[in-house]
Amino acid sequence: MTQIKSHWQNYIDGAWVGGGAGTIDVHDPATGAFLATAALADAADVDRAVMAARRVHLSAELTALRPIERGRMVQAMGRWLLARKEEIAHVLTREQGKPLWEAMIEVEGAALYFEYYGNQASTVEGRSIPLGAGYFDFTDYEPYGVSAQIIPWNYPVEMTARSLSAALTTGNTVVIKSPELTPLTNSYFAQAAEAAGFPAGCVNVLCGLGHEAGAALAGHPMVNQIVFTGSVPTGIAIAKAAAGNVVPCVLELGGKSAAIVYDDADLDAFETDIRWGIYFNAGQVCSAMSRVIVHESRHDELVERASAIAKSLSVGPGAERVEFGPNMGAMVSLAQRDRAASMVQTATAQGASVAAGGHPLNQPGAFMEPTVLCNVTPDMAIAREEVFGPVLSVLSFKDDAEAIAIANSTEYGLVAGAFTQDLNRATRAARQLRAGQVFINEWYAGGVETPFGGYGKSGYGREKGREALWNYVQTKNIAIKLKG
Ligand code: NAD
Repeated sequence: MTQIKSHWQNYIDGAWVGGGAGTIDVHDPATGAFLATAALADAADVDRAVMAARRVHLSAELTALRPIERGRMVQAMGRWLLARKEEIAHVLTREQGKPLWEAMIEVEGAALYFEYYGNQASTVEGRSIPLGAGYFDFTDYEPYGVSAQIIPWNYPVEMTARSLSAALTTGNTVVIKSPELTPLTNSYFAQAAEAAGFPAGCVNVLCGLGHEAGAALAGHPMVNQIVFTGSVPTGIAIAKAAAGNVVPCVLELGGKSAAIVYDDADLDAFETDIRWGIYFNAGQVCSAMSRVIVHESRHDELVERASAIAKSLSVGPGAERVEFGPNMGAMVSLAQRDRAASMVQTATAQGASVAAGGHPLNQPGAFMEPTVLCNVTPDMAIAREEVFGPVLSVLSFKDDAEAIAIANSTEYGLVAGAFTQDLNRATRAARQLRAGQVFINEWYAGGVETPFGGYGKSGYGREKGREALWNYVQTKNIAIKLKG
């Protein structure tokens, strides 16, 4: 097993430093064993990081670069991560719990963001606006300045990569607040930025508690833009802090996303969607397929297939799960596991039936059985609230209008899916589903290129795709009065 260094520091203004709030112990959720300590930032550390990022922004070092050169530096960060994929993935598995092969996919996914956005640095072009003979007018896109990025624990590497790559591509400087449960892997971004030649102070990475360092960062008056990925209550707190300083924020929050499975759906193919949709990363995915709304004529068959998949997955320590396969790792913590298990208990008390799993594993570590619940009705808490665990809720419908009504009946609206052979039906559903992204016949279809973000309480603003770049720039219009 790869040795993990015992203490991890914060990275502020180009230096590795301790934290004003002391340290936090990081544990391996697969064993409960102590893994390492991480420096914990306080408000003064946050202030130093923000002021360093501001200094670099005001120096115009990044914006003076020809964008194609800045883009090359962003791309170099991705290559740096890929060259250390195994090392980073090992640390990720141990701090987060996911199987090693999933961690490898996450590091590859992170690198892809740097490749994708770095490649677009020179495409952020303004336009010229005709104002008649006496004027020449054009628009320009300028970075906001200091981008504050607050990261969740479920995909610490990919989430940071997603926001950091777009921010640097557009010429912003960055302060990252890593998640306190999984802070270790975020350190690699500081090293990657340094190796790629970004100046000291341009990328700062610090771990700290949400209500201390997180709140200090979100409310810092010199932060110019905020990107937050995490829960709805924290998102609301951050939006309030952003409003206090009149700065924009992007909120990527939770979901209770539904797949509608029509009577003509290909259930053989849908088994793959179940496998990935709800059991990848032990269901700790904001866009997880946590509800399936199936036509009543296919209900029993679907529950049987879903249960067979759930039962076929072996659950155990991620570090031992090296090869791509039918397996699942630990959840991030015992608290998250117990929360998922208690939501299942409440569901059964409200009338749902457990078709597979339903319990924590009877062994040390934060393991939860892959679970399928049937007889779920739209009014139950399990059908409305995010579990953020490996728990699939199956509901049924009689006609298409009812299916859409159930799918749209939660406060969320992150993603949705429609599974049918009928293109007209699929297209109608896509238009009627209230979600930022709709998958037809493949859950998670798309990639770094496709815009991602929520309707309703799933948040606002978009990450991924071309759309995300516009969250990191502001428009300046320049009008020139011509003589003669
Ligand atoms: P969380 O909201 O508790 O924490 C997220 C981050 O916010 C952490 O870094 C935390 O330290 C920080 N934070 C907490 N309180 C804060 C405060 N008052 N001010 C500033 N920062 C604060 O969420 P979590 O438990 O880490 O993540 C799970 C949640 O995130 C789920 O609800 C999930 O759906 C959501 N999520 C969404 C996406 C997405 O892209 N939409 C991706 C991953 C996770």
